[in-house]
Amino acid sequence: MELPVLDPATREVIGRVPAGDGASVDRAVRAASRAFASWSAVPVVERARHMFRFADALERRFEDLATSVSRENGKTIADARGEVRRGIEAVEFACGMPSLMMGDALADIARGIDSTSVRYPLGVCAGITPFNFPAMIPLWMVPIALAAGNTFVLKPSPQTPLTAELIAEIAAGCGFPEGIFAVVHGGAETVEALIDHPDVAAVSFVGSSNVARSVQERAVRAHKRVQALGGAKNYLVVMPDAVNASTVGAVMASAFGGAGQRCLAGSVLIAVGDAGDRIVPMLVEAAANLRLGPGVDATVDMGPVVSDEAIARIDGYVNRARAAGARLVFEPRAVPASGSFVSPAIFDRVDPAGELARDEIFGPVLAVVRVASLDEALGVANSSRYGNASSIFTADGAAARTFAARVAVGMVGINVGVAAPMAFFPFGGVKDSIFGDLRCHGKDAVAFYTQQRVVISRWPQ
Ligand code: NAD
Repeated sequence: MELPVLDPATREVIGRVPAGDGASVDRAVRAASRAFASWSAVPVVERARHMFRFADALERRFEDLATSVSRENGKTIADARGEVRRGIEAVEFACGMPSLMMGDALADIARGIDSTSVRYPLGVCAGITPFNFPAMIPLWMVPIALAAGNTFVLKPSPQTPLTAELIAEIAAGCGFPEGIFAVVHGGAETVEALIDHPDVAAVSFVGSSNVARSVQERAVRAHKRVQALGGAKNYLVVMPDAVNASTVGAVMASAFGGAGQRCLAGSVLIAVGDAGDRIVPMLVEAAANLRLGPGVDATVDMGPVVSDEAIARIDGYVNRARAAGARLVFEPRAVPASGSFVSPAIFDRVDPAGELARDEIFGPVLAVVRVASLDEALGVANSSRYGNASSIFTADGAAARTFAARVAVGMVGINVGVAAPMAFFPFGGVKDSIFGDLRCHGKDAVAFYTQQRVVISRWPQ
C-alpha cells in the first residue's frame, strides 16, 4: 500500500511513499544493525570526511531541497531556504566530530594511576520527525548520529515525507556505506515497531507533546535512550519602550511565518502597560498587507497550512473564541479556495487563562494579552504547560536581564521573535516541551548519540 502526499497549496497529489509496517522497520533496522559493525570501526576523521561530502552534496541540491520543502509543507520558498540552510549547518557541525567526541584525561588520579573517558557510539538510532520542518529536523539528528559512529533509521511525517527521501538519495549519492542510513514511512504503527525493535538503541522524537510523552514512556519501558521534543506555546513580551517597526516586524514574522506552524511561533503577545494600545493597530495594519498564496511563489508572505484537518482545528479555536465574545481585531479574510489556506487572525484583550492563550493552536492566530507589569507578564508566560521559547522586546537592559533569568523556557529571545539556536547550541525547551534530558543538536546531541566509558589504568613501576 502507498500513502499519497499532497501539495497543500493545490491539494494535488505530488508523490507517494510506501505505507510502512513492522516488516519494513525490521528490514531497515537489521540492515542498519549489520552496517553498524563496520561503520563504527571507521575512524572518526573518515566519518567526518563523509559529512564534509554530505554537506557539499546538500549544498549542490540546495534549491531542490528548498522547493521540495515548500511544495510538501506549504511554507514560503524563503522560509524553506532558511530551513535548508539551518539543516546544512547541522551537517557542518557534525564535521567537527573528531573534536566533539574527545573525552577527558587526568594523569595521576592516585599514585601511578591515570584515568581517561572515551565516547563510543550506541548502535542503531531511530528518528521520528514532524511535518513542519521536513529538512531541518531530520538533519538535526542524522549527521550527528552518523558522525558519532551510529547508524540511523528515519521515520518522517507522512504529511511531508518526500524531502526525507531526497535527503536519503543525496546521502546515497555521496558514497554513504550501504545500510548506515535508511528512511521508513508510516504513522503510529511504524513508530511503535521502531521503538520496540530490540536492535534500536536510541530514539529521537520531535512532534506534539502528547505523542512525545507516549514515545518517551514506551522507549523508557524498553530501556532505550530517548529524547522527545514536544509542542509549544511561545509568549512574546512587548515592553512600552519597544513599540516600533522593528518589533512589529519581528512579531509578525514570529506569529505568521510558516502560517504559525512552528514550534518557535510567538502566538501570544503580552503587552505591558500602554504597549498594547500602540502596537495592536500596527499589527492589524501589517496583517492586512500579508499576501497569501502558494509558498513556491516568491512574492507570497504566507503559504497554506499543511492540511484541511489543520484548517478545521484552527477554525475551531477562532469560532469558539468569537462565540464567547473575544475581541477579534483582525477579522479573517477570504483566502484562495484552491488549497488549505487560513487567514491570519488577531485577538486583543484575550483571557490569559483561556484556550487562545494556553493551547498550541499551530496556525496563524495571534492572541494579545494585556498586563500592567513585567512581573505580571512573567506570571502569564510561566503558568504555561509548555516551556519552549519566549522573547522580550525592550530597550531596557535590566528588564531583559530579569526576563532571561526568570522566564521558564529553554530558548530566550531578546528583541528576537524566533529564538532559534544555531547548530552549535542545543535546541529544546522545558516542561511539556521536552520529555527526556538531552536536547537536539549542539553538544547535547553529541552526548545523546554517544556513551561514555571511563578507563582507569595502573602501570606499576
Ligand atoms: P505529531 O506529533 O502529529 O507527529 C510527529 C511524528 O509522530 C510524525 O512522524 C507522526 O507520524 C508520528 N506520530 C503521530 N501520532 C503518533 C502516535 N500516536 N504514536 C506514535 N507516533 C505518532 O506532530 P506534527 O503535527 O507532525 O508536528 C507538529 C508538532 O510538532 C507541534 O506540536 C510542534 O510544536 C511540534 N514541534 C516541536 C518542535 C520542538 O523543537 N520542540 C519542533 C518542531 C515541531
